[in-house]
Formats: sequence, structure tokens, C-alpha cells
Amino acid sequence: MMLFASDLDQTLIYSSRHTKDADPTKLRVVEVLEGKVISYMTDDAINSLQDLMKRIMFIPVTTRTINQYNRVTIFSEDLRPTYAVTSNGGNILIDGKVDEKWSQHIRQRISKDSMAMDDILCEFEKFTHESWLHRGLVADDLFYYCIVERDLLPVDEMYSFGEWLSSNGWELSIQGRKVYFIPQAVNKRDAVLHIKESEGMQIVVSSGDSLLDLPLIHASSHALIPAHGEVFELGKNEGVPFTQSNGIKASEEILKFVASIED
Ligand SMILES: [Mg+2]
Repeated sequence: MMLFASDLDQTLIYSSRHTKDADPTKLRVVEVLEGKVISYMTDDAINSLQDLMKRIMFIPVTTRTINQYNRVTIFSEDLRPTYAVTSNGGNILIDGKVDEKWSQHIRQRISKDSMAMDDILCEFEKFTHESWLHRGLVADDLFYYCIVERDLLPVDEMYSFGEWLSSNGWELSIQGRKVYFIPQAVNKRDAVLHIKESEGMQIVVSSGDSLLDLPLIHASSHALIPAHGEVFELGKNEGVPFTQSNGIKASEEILKFVASIED
């Protein structure tokens, strides 16, 4: 039995910046916020995913908070996969409801393995500057992210700070205008492997475009990484193949790849 665990943003669903290669008549809106379209999928990708879901288990795996995930109505209301992993693995939803046992388990691990968030933010404040830091937020009481002015962000300094974070039980990811600091216990791999065990699945296929997707990708039997985004830009794929296409077309290629794998 096979499961397909996939990142959402810039892997299966795309903001308008990444849709230019698609036929506009074949784009479907999958997320709206305050009257504004936030994300799209192509008809082709939706059809492929629906076909896949008839024969294998599909798990959306996202760094989005529970509320942000629920906004993506194609999953939360239309396709309704049994499981969804949100909050970068900090929460598992089963039929839309939070798995409380998992949440407790993760919170215990955070306090054991990672430096306190306040101490992390104290260190971060030493080099932040108002020219590039717009606002910081705490997501689902689990991790921190901030909205930055990407052109002014000192990226090299940020990734060196990431090394300090790693040595204190946290991970860094920079995705477009968002910078994430996430406790190591809060990761996509552990949440997906937990579901794999409890469902008695044998094969995990995965995809994702950011550093936060890599642990899951490396724990999978098969994986494909979009030819755009953080992993592509940093060349951190470590032998895992990239798609041929980039932008929203990569989602169609990823789903064809999953469909081609013998269960
Ligand atoms: Mg992504």
C-alpha cells in the first residue's frame, strides 16, 4: 500500500506569480481570502489527483496553520483526504479534527529538544532591522515566522543564523517573503511516518520545494522536487530528481510521476 504525501504551496497549489505558463482557461481557484484569489491548481492536476485518490492514500502536508489550511477549500471541502498534516507536522487532522494525542506528543518533544522560543527571538533581534522585518507571528503555538522585505533580507546572514538555530533544536526556512523558525520536533517527516505506521502503509512517495520538505523527501521511497523554490535555488536536492518544468506545470508532472509508480 502506497501513500503520497505532498507539500501544498508552490508544489500542488500556486500563487498567481507562478501561473504564467498555464492556459488561463484551465486554472481553477482553490483559495480565496477576503475576496482575493490566493491560490490556483490546474484542471489537469485536479483530475490527476482525483484519480490517484481512488487507489492510494493522499496526505496534504503543509507548514500552513490549521486555519490557513482550511482556507484551501479544494482539500478541506472538496477532495477531503482522511488525513492532513498542518503546522509543519505539529498537527495531524483526521477527517478535519485535530489528533490531540499527536499534538500533546509533539509539545512534549519540543520542550525537551529545543531552546525556548523567547530565547531564540532574543538572539534574532540582535540583527533584525526594521527595513526588512515587517511583522512576526507565532503559528498554532508551535513555531515562529515573519514577513520580510525579500530584496533587503540579508540572506547569507540569515542562513548562518540558521546554523545556530540547528544547534539549538530549531530549523530555518526562507520561502518567498516568509522566514520560518521551527522546532526540530515539528517536522513533516515524523507526522507522515506516524500515519504510515498507524495505517500499515509500505511505500511513501513525496514532493515539496522547501528545506522544510527535505526530511520527508529523504525518508520516502520515491520523491520529485519542483524545479523552483528554496531547495532548487540552494541545490540541496542531494540526488533527488527535480521536475523538468517549473511553476504550476511542475504540479502536473509530479502527479504523473506518482501515478506511474507501481503500487
Ligand atoms: Mg512549498
